[in-house]
Formats: sequence, structure tokens, C-alpha cells
Amino acid sequence: MLKDQDRIFTNLYGMHDRTLKGAKARGHWDGTAKIIKNGRDWIIDQMKSSGLRGRGGAGFPTGLKWSFMPKESDGRPSYLVVNADESEPGTCKDREIMRHDPHTLIEGCLIASFAMNANACYIYIRGEYIREKEALQAAIDEAYDAGLVGKNAAKSGWDFDIYLHHGAGAYICGEETALLESLEGKKGMPRMKPPFPAGAGLYGCPTTVNNVESIAVVPTILRRGPEWFSSFGRPNNAGTKLFAISGHVNNPCVVEEAMSIPFAELIDRHCGGIRGGWDNLKAVIPGGSSVPMIPGKTMHEDAIMDFDWLREQRSGLGTAAVIVMDQSTDVVKAIWRLSKFYKHESCGQCTPCREGTGWMMRVMDRLVKGDAEPEEIDMLLDVTKQVEGHTICALGDAAAWPIQGLIRHFRDDIEERIAHKRKTRKPAVAAE
Ligand code: SF4
Repeated sequence: MLKDQDRIFTNLYGMHDRTLKGAKARGHWDGTAKIIKNGRDWIIDQMKSSGLRGRGGAGFPTGLKWSFMPKESDGRPSYLVVNADESEPGTCKDREIMRHDPHTLIEGCLIASFAMNANACYIYIRGEYIREKEALQAAIDEAYDAGLVGKNAAKSGWDFDIYLHHGAGAYICGEETALLESLEGKKGMPRMKPPFPAGAGLYGCPTTVNNVESIAVVPTILRRGPEWFSSFGRPNNAGTKLFAISGHVNNPCVVEEAMSIPFAELIDRHCGGIRGGWDNLKAVIPGGSSVPMIPGKTMHEDAIMDFDWLREQRSGLGTAAVIVMDQSTDVVKAIWRLSKFYKHESCGQCTPCREGTGWMMRVMDRLVKGDAEPEEIDMLLDVTKQVEGHTICALGDAAAWPIQGLIRHFRDDIEERIAHKRKTRKPAVAAE
């Protein structure tokens, strides 16, 4: 359980002063130059020791990712790109940081960019995030006016510019290489990898793409020390984490908690429990719409909210967007809706995803109406396997996994629906 004094994003808890004055009062921008003067290797080593794993969904170790960037320039500039294109259904944690703690993010951008030898950072923000864009731009302007970014940023001796780029509302632009394409002014379509962005990213230059939360926690980790950060959570699952909890809880919210917190504790402590009580819990999608759901009983009795435990359940922590569904939920319809979403958002450049998401949605259409044949359940599962792992980017997997989770845990619901429709179907009138 996280104590109040160990929270990084205290603005989420009633101290809503997002101005530079408020940020400084909470200790941000304090000794930033001193941190930078410790040097690149020191910063990267500290980040590695902290055990921070990327908060955008994949969970790749952040310090290790930074170490892939070239130490010396080969004539090309290096870039940090912050992925603020938060569009995964259920996910709204980065929005809170940009609304309430924008200076924490900007300070993190400066330190991380320095560590990766980048004099410029681009923040790519979701098209629908209008107020967040305004809050962030106001904070960037304040930071420029105060000399915290720009030439000799924060008196660190490092020149650093930061640009905010507003997306246009395409989910696929949250995929890191599609985001880079979009930043370059092209259609947001994922690139084949390799080359990875650290070798050839934005404008063909070395680039690291990090999630908002991953960057916003950096200054606090470096101030309080990697041991402090890694003291939360289980080994390999370190730190504090924002959880965005929605659905059938009494009080949906975004909260910061210690990683590896039991699910029941997270819900009881922050959300006032499940609507109608724990016996009313049907299923949980624990990490944003791309990860498979887990039955409510498993989540209530055993669940630990971290990367490793959820992966053992063939699901994932993802973005830690926790979608809670009680017994009133039509889980088949919920996953059908997600299938529509992924079909709509597929960029269409690779066949298994372009055709597969359409196939999956059409079969889900029939399943949700009960009009499918029972054999189509296994056929649908087969289609998900044809899509999974066979596409350029992870959107194909993201479309396949929720359906696999539905069939794995709620096959009876689908079969009952088909059987019920068959029973109630009127016999065809015989031709005269
Ligand atoms: Fe585009 Fe889908 Fe292929 Fe990703 S998997 S590149 S979204 S078609």
C-alpha cells in the first residue's frame, strides 16, 4: 500500500496547482541542473537500477532502452519523442498527468533528452486531448519564460527545445513508428522493424519513444533514488504506478499505487468496492482493451496487479487501465464492440490485420446476435491465431487477444446465446 508521502503525482489528490509556482512548491525543478551535471552514464545507470519498466503497455526496461541510443553523434541529431497519444479504450492516466502535473513531464523530458544526447523533444498528444494540450503548452511556455528549457536549460549548460504536436485522432498513431511517420507529416502507418527507432527513428535519426508516465516519473526517481522506487512492488515489477479504473465500481478513478498491489485492495481502497459487492463481479480487463479479460473470481481471490502475475494468467498489465464488469454485463457484446473498434482503427497495410479484423468483427456480429453456427466459435479462434503474431505492428494482436480471452473464459455464454436463438427462432414457412 502506498503512503501519501510516496506519491509522485500528488496533484491527483486535491492539490490542483499545475502552474510552475505550484510545481516548484511540490519540489519539481529543484536541483535539475545538479542531476544533469552527474552525467549521462550516471542517469542511465540510476534508471536501470530503479527497475522502471515502460508504462505505455509493453513494459520494456526504460534505462536499458535509453542505453541503445548512440553515445556520440555521428552527425545526425538524436531525439526524444514522448507518446501522449493515449487512445486505448479504458486508458486515461496520461491525461491526468498532462492536466495536473505538466511540469513533472517537462522536467522529465529535459533530463531524459540530456541522457540520450538529444537537444530536442517532441510530445505527440492525442487529437481529442484539447484541454490537456492547452495545459501542457501553457506549462511549456512558463518553462521557456523561466529559462528552464531553451538555451542553457535550467542552467545545466544543455540546450534543449521541446515541441508539442497535436495528433488528429487516429488510434494507430499511438504505435511508435506510426507516430513517427505522422510527426514527419505522412500517413500514420507503422514501419517494419528493424531498423528500430534508436538506429533510425524520426527523420531517420536516433530516436527513443517513451510513454508520458515513464518520463514524468524520472525526476522523482533521480531525486529520491532508485532504491526508493524499487522498494515498491515485487522484483521485476518495481515502482509506483497509475491505475485508471473504470466500469462497475462504486467510484471510478485514476490513482497512484504501489505496483503489485492486490486487485481486491486496489478496488476496495480507492473505488469503494464493486457495484453490488464482490459476488457481483463477472470479469475484469486489467490493462486496457488490448489484453484478454480474466474471470471475476480469479481477480477477486488471487490477482496481483503487475506485469508478471497478469502475464501468467495469459493477460497483461498493459496500460493498467482496469475495466471492471459486473454480472449485468453482456461480455459477448463488450468484446464485439472492441472488435468493431480494432476493425475501424486498422491502418490496412498488412493483409492479416486488414482482412482478419474484418473477419473477426463479422463473426462477432453473428455471435452477438446468436445467429452463428456453434462451429464458428472454433473457426473464430482459428482466425485470431492466424492474425496473432503475423502482422507488422501489435494492433493485430490487440484485436485477437480480447476474443481469445472471451472464448477461453466465457464460451458457455456464447453457446447459450446460440442455443437460445435456435430455440426461439420461428420455423420457416413451407413454400406452397
Ligand atoms: Fe496496420 Fe494492422 Fe498491419 Fe498494424 S497490424 S500495420 S494496424 S494493418
